[in-house]
Amino acid sequence: MSRPLKIVIHGAAGRMGRELLALCHDSDQYSLAGAVVRPGSAREGEAVPASSGSGATGVRFSTSLGKGDVVIDFSLPEAIESLASQCVSLSLPLLSGTTGLGAAENAALKQASRHIPVLWAANTSIGVHVTAALVKQAAATLGQADIEIVETHHREKLDAPSGTALFLGEAAASGRGEDLAQRRIDGRAGAQSARVDGQIGFASVRGGSVAGEHRVMLLWEDERIEISHASNNRRVFANGALSVASWLADQPAGMYSMADWIDATAAS
Ligand code: NAD
Repeated sequence: MSRPLKIVIHGAAGRMGRELLALCHDSDQYSLAGAVVRPGSAREGEAVPASSGSGATGVRFSTSLGKGDVVIDFSLPEAIESLASQCVSLSLPLLSGTTGLGAAENAALKQASRHIPVLWAANTSIGVHVTAALVKQAAATLGQADIEIVETHHREKLDAPSGTALFLGEAAASGRGEDLAQRRIDGRAGAQSARVDGQIGFASVRGGSVAGEHRVMLLWEDERIEISHASNNRRVFANGALSVASWLADQPAGMYSMADWIDATAAS
């Protein structure tokens, strides 16, 4: 793929979208090819401002994808099915970081991956993936430990537990050779809240402007290990998404994960 890589941002008016716009503008590796906002948005047709606040990018906010090398999506679950089919129609690789997806959205991404490269990631920071590897190892070694995951995010976050908390829970479950769905418990309100052996518990805290904090506790008699990760800001996720998109744009059709990207990067 020629460089700079032409990026289409889907969800461009959102918090992550704005972070990506700024990074594309400040980079000679990436150029902004499209800035997609939700249908009906008042921003449609408006010029996308340069990150410095002066000048313009030459791109206008649009409700359709247009041309580019790769789409980076941070939007809402309800946008995913339509986005996946548009990417297939336009033969555009798709990286989605949108969380809270249900069965229909996951199926749409899988279906699209028969025709285009698709990567979905609950978290595009490399640090979280190292954290998951540590969690998996600890859970495998400490088979009987009680595992609880506490996550904190900004007050506007819509889904809970966070996609990253579930990803870390999956790492813990797979370390034990188990399926998270059989072990997961979200919150402990009510009378029947005593811990059941083997559960992986999730607790969500919402407030302020926290970009994302995750703490995995492994507790057993008289001891406790805590493995935690904190993101200071959203630039971490945006930078990760751009690096991954750069790799994804050169892959054949298929369904990819951050682990594929990490393996490919380590091997090169
Ligand atoms: P946000 O609410 O600030 O932005 C979402 C944007 O998507 C909004 O501007 C909304 O209008 C827009 N949108 C909705 N439907 C659309 C459509 N059909 N077409 C185009 N745009 C549409 O949210 P955010 O903080 O930017 O986060 C977005 C998503 O990314 C959430 O699911 C969040 O959990 C997730 N997220 C993932 C990571 C990661 O590393 N994977 C990091 C941060 C956030």
